[in-house]
Amino acid sequence: MGLGFEIKKCSKDSRARIGLVRTSHGPFATPAFMPVGTQATVKALSPHDLRGAGVEIILCNTYHLYLRPGHKVIGELGGLHQFMGWNGPILTDSGGFQVYSLSKLRKIEEEGILFQSHLDGSRHFFTPRLAIEIQEELGSDIAMVLDDCPPYPCTYERAKSSVMRTLRWAESSKEAKGLEGQALFGIVQGSLFRDLREECLKGLTKIGFDGYAIGGLAVGEDVGKRLATLRDLLPQMPPESPRYLMGVGTPYEILEGVKMGVDMFDCVIPTRNARNGTLFTSLGKLNIRNSQYKTDKRPCDPTCNCYTCKNYSRAYLRHLYVSKELLAYRLGTIHNVAFFMNLMERIRRAIMEENLGALEEEISIYFGQEDEHGLLSLCDG
Ligand SMILES: [Zn+2]
Repeated sequence: MGLGFEIKKCSKDSRARIGLVRTSHGPFATPAFMPVGTQATVKALSPHDLRGAGVEIILCNTYHLYLRPGHKVIGELGGLHQFMGWNGPILTDSGGFQVYSLSKLRKIEEEGILFQSHLDGSRHFFTPRLAIEIQEELGSDIAMVLDDCPPYPCTYERAKSSVMRTLRWAESSKEAKGLEGQALFGIVQGSLFRDLREECLKGLTKIGFDGYAIGGLAVGEDVGKRLATLRDLLPQMPPESPRYLMGVGTPYEILEGVKMGVDMFDCVIPTRNARNGTLFTSLGKLNIRNSQYKTDKRPCDPTCNCYTCKNYSRAYLRHLYVSKELLAYRLGTIHNVAFFMNLMERIRRAIMEENLGALEEEISIYFGQEDEHGLLSLCDG
């Protein structure tokens, strides 16, 4: 369909690989991290800021844009790229996860999901076909199929019915797909049940997609169980297609995912943390509101080359945060997003140089195995 994927190098001592994905709006290097632009904006940043921070691809949330301003409005205005002034690649999710996590009174039926908007209580019925129609109107480069995300924890029976429904919906999604130049990814569900994950993956590869995503993780399970599920599943995923781990994660989890062969990640951690004053640095995280930074002349991270670190001191950033000045959110987000982009760059370099172990050691010293996902929704709202 609308995607080219070229694997440039595979690591000798892990499943890590570097590659290049070509989309209708340009290429991006993998392993890639996608900042989350829920409402057609990565909060506090302009497209110029995103480029400056090294961002190549962003994610936007279908559920939010369908409810407001509406996909038809965005379509009339020339599509999502033109609407938000970002001419790089965009991936849109299917809206399924947000329907589960945000909407009221949802009811899963065979044909789709009935739900009430979290904004005004209006009723909507999401079907696999509608999720495709919305994403085609938005004109994203990579669209996702509507899937049935079971809650966590869930019984084997519930997870099994979710896999069966996800497969039926994946088939309808592929049938509904018509837009040239837009790729479509399938989503593997199955909760923490190994056989169900395998069954889902097999069904999806039989239908055939441009890429395969792992959904239903980072929803409250502990990090050990999440990694064990990935360890079982990833070796079975088609090597020739991009693999996308949805909603993950922390620097540690990204690195673990990369070692297992994941090519794409998205997460609200850099942007959400920036807004509450938690900034990532090469020596771990710092809370910039802390009084110890009151007269600190150093940049947030002396090793960082971002606009914020090149121009402002910790003391100034702290002042902005404490005073609740709007610039704090922009400068903090620029830095955190740049940190994640630098991390991905370093990961790709380490794969190229067969040196991932040293980077892993550094990340585990400064960031450890902490889990920030909890039960947060996977949109930056
Ligand atoms: Zn910086």
